[in-house]
Amino acid sequence: MQDLFSVRDKVVHVCGGSRGIGRAIAMAFHEAGARVIVSARHREALAATGLEFEVCDLADSHQIRRCVDTIVARHGRLDVLFNVAGINYRHAAETYPEQRLDEVLGINLRGNYLMAQACGRVMIGQGGGKIVNVASFHSHFSLAGMAPYGASKGAITAMTRALAVEWARYNIQVNAIAPGFIQTDMNKALWEQEEIRRWALERTPAGRLGVPEDLVGVAIFLASAASDYMTGQVVYVDGGLTAGQTWPLTVPR
Ligand code: NAP
Repeated sequence: MQDLFSVRDKVVHVCGGSRGIGRAIAMAFHEAGARVIVSARHREALAATGLEFEVCDLADSHQIRRCVDTIVARHGRLDVLFNVAGINYRHAAETYPEQRLDEVLGINLRGNYLMAQACGRVMIGQGGGKIVNVASFHSHFSLAGMAPYGASKGAITAMTRALAVEWARYNIQVNAIAPGFIQTDMNKALWEQEEIRRWALERTPAGRLGVPEDLVGVAIFLASAASDYMTGQVVYVDGGLTAGQTWPLTVPR
């Protein structure tokens, strides 16, 4: 049974693995015996993980190809891609700066697509693999002030299904993890605001904000043989946020 969830010796690339959710996934896979390569833009943060790394900006298709080529040259294969890197800016929809719209879609959609494409080509050639994209609760419902981010996360779920359908014949499973409120650099400043924190806790049935390590269990499942007949799915790991709300109704016990 343990073998079903084993990721030992798998070559695992965590794109966006220097901080937050990606870093927690990378560390857990390293501990589980996988050969982990993390990539992101900033060398110091990558080096601080103590893992093998590649500097790679998802805004640059040449860097994406070079990163994947280097991993394959060094390890001879690529079993799993975690497409975690993502960015967000908050502005009113009616005045959202065009340059930032391009940036958000450029990383969260175009960049993630090109990374999946480069890794997918390797997986097709070697007879299979696993791609795990990172969507969001924004794939399911919206919060005001980040329309392009929500659009990119809706697109990631559509891309996950499209690649799953197209690459199933090559024994490649493509799924997505959709996190809820997870405490990372991306939103640290928000959770420091008492009003916002209370608002989020009230809407999360589990009664707490998530931490990056909360994503690890599903990540292992989606990278292991346990999920071999599962593809094109979006798994919400959100403490019940998208399942519904508690409300102040008193019911008999
Ligand atoms: P984070 O702490 O800000 O980490 C983002 C990671 O992506 C870092 O490793 C960052 O490293 C990398 N990155 C950013 N821009 C990049 C680029 N252009 N090229 C390559 N790498 C890049 O974010 P997080 O909270 O862990 O979020 C990870 C993913 O989960 C994102 O896709 C996010 O949308 C999604 N998500 C997060 C939450 C949440 O509550 N935190 C909720 C739902 C979904 P560098 O800056 O050095 O490049």
